Amino acid sequence: MTRIDDLPLREELRGQSPYGAPQLDVPVRLNTNENPYPLPEPLVARIAERVAEAARGLNRYPDRDAVELRTRLAAYLSRTTGHTVGTDQVWAANGSNEVIQQLLQVFGGPGRTAIGFEPSYSMHALISRGTGTAWISGARNEDFTIDVAGAAAQIRAARPDVVFVCSPNNPTGTAVAAETVLELYETALAVKPCMVVVDEAYGEFSHRPSLLPLLAGRPNLVVTRTMSKAFGAAGLRLGYMAADPAVVDAVQLVRLPYHLSSVNQATALAALEYTDTLLGYVEQLKRERDRLVDELRGIGYDVTESDANFVQFGTFADSHAAWRAILDRGVLIRDVGVPGRLRVSAGTPAENDAFLEAARAVFKEHGTQPDTAAAPGTSAQPGTPAGTTTSEATA
Ligand SMILES: *Cc1c(COP(=O)(O)O)cnc(C)c1O
Repeated sequence: MTRIDDLPLREELRGQSPYGAPQLDVPVRLNTNENPYPLPEPLVARIAERVAEAARGLNRYPDRDAVELRTRLAAYLSRTTGHTVGTDQVWAANGSNEVIQQLLQVFGGPGRTAIGFEPSYSMHALISRGTGTAWISGARNEDFTIDVAGAAAQIRAARPDVVFVCSPNNPTGTAVAAETVLELYETALAVKPCMVVVDEAYGEFSHRPSLLPLLAGRPNLVVTRTMSKAFGAAGLRLGYMAADPAVVDAVQLVRLPYHLSSVNQATALAALEYTDTLLGYVEQLKRERDRLVDELRGIGYDVTESDANFVQFGTFADSHAAWRAILDRGVLIRDVGVPGRLRVSAGTPAENDAFLEAARAVFKEHGTQPDTAAAPGTSAQPGTPAGTTTSEATA
């Protein structure tokens, strides 16, 4: 049998693992930050209608520039963030992962470097590697916030071409203050011309306003968003970004022709017609997220402040054993490789109840106090150039 290492792989891909959150068939799945609510029936009907319309034109290539969709996305962003963006400032692709890949193809690549502050969304590192961009793993504080002075020092040492800031951060749930992003932007651009990418995949779930208004007067800033989480449409594959129109022009240099199918565009447009209904689910999920934080703290867990639709909690001497024990009670959550911690996505009230019951049962045997838990190897001291990359990718 041929193994992939027998093939003439690019050196930097040897020994790497593909992205892979376990997909197990258990009663309660709270492991990939999906929205637990299926799309409402009237929206399903509207999608069928719009897709049928699109199907009549499937003999033709799709609108290459997805103008109608980008216009609707721009209107959505303008309305929900209070910062007006135009169609020429918005770009869409098959998931924000594709947007990030396009950005790295344009601004990263061989001989170039990207940095992120870990633990964070490990696709930033994986897509960097996939595009031949060197990856630098910056560190966070012990409480998973970004230490501004430390991060600035890491940027000055690394001289990156692309800086990733994930806010709210996956897998910790931590939001990043606007002042922090500004400080990192100023620092990075003082070192050399580069791009700062703010990944706001969970922006709609935050207690804080979007970082989108920071785009004004900052052509090297990009904010990425997705319909996978807040819009409850992970299966759709639709991500987008807002940035200076020049950045939108730049990604056209690398995007595949007709990358966004007519069916995708039609489905996303239908979903955008139901924005208010879908944002109603977001409000429910935010309340459930806050309840998870409170109740986990009540049990005695150490819980990281969350601005996303998931919660990081611990600590455990053996987080994998704790993950297993919760799974044995029929609840699948995520061990993303942060020492001593696990992550649970907010589900429906009933799913969260089932999880909390399991978490309560598991606490006595597996829970420990933060100082006695495994050392958080990912949070090196501020100013340390590189922490360790979490072993597993995080959705
Ligand atoms: C889920 C997630 C994404 C979304 O990826 P899509 O390709 O849009 O599904 C992007 N960034 C972060 C941090 C995420 O957690």
